[in-house]
Amino acid sequence: MADTAEPDCLFCKIVAGNLPSDRAYEDDTVLAFKDIHPQAPFHWLVVPKVHIATLNDFDPGHAELIGQLLLAAKRLAADHGLPGYRVAMNVNREGGQVVFHVHLHVIGGRQMKGALG
Ligand code: AMP
Ligand code: ZN
Repeated sequence: MADTAEPDCLFCKIVAGNLPSDRAYEDDTVLAFKDIHPQAPFHWLVVPKVHIATLNDFDPGHAELIGQLLLAAKRLAADHGLPGYRVAMNVNREGGQVVFHVHLHVIGGRQMKGALG
């Protein structure tokens, strides 16, 4: 998958500002916005601004971008004063992925429980 915007991609539309979202942290390469169906008091998504469908589409050339996604998650949590939080990424339908534009879930605001699956 090429690193460009996909016209039919929900998160590409959010990145472009063509679909409303509650945007938080943003820089040249990544954007964080509120999840529309939060699973905890704090539930935000961090996405690359370029379209990459899944974790499986990352290659070594994306190493810096992968780091930027994680650093954005850390910053988001720090900016919101979260003492602890969970970062998760679903990969493909079998992994629970519904939106095929790679994203980190940053979840917190309550005690996280053990079950991940
Ligand atoms: P995943 O299952 O990992 O693909 O997660 C997709 C996430 O995107 C879900 O948690 C949805 O609630 C969230 N989502 C779907 N549409 C929107 C939207 N328009 N704005 C914000 N979050 C959304
Ligand atoms: Zn996209």
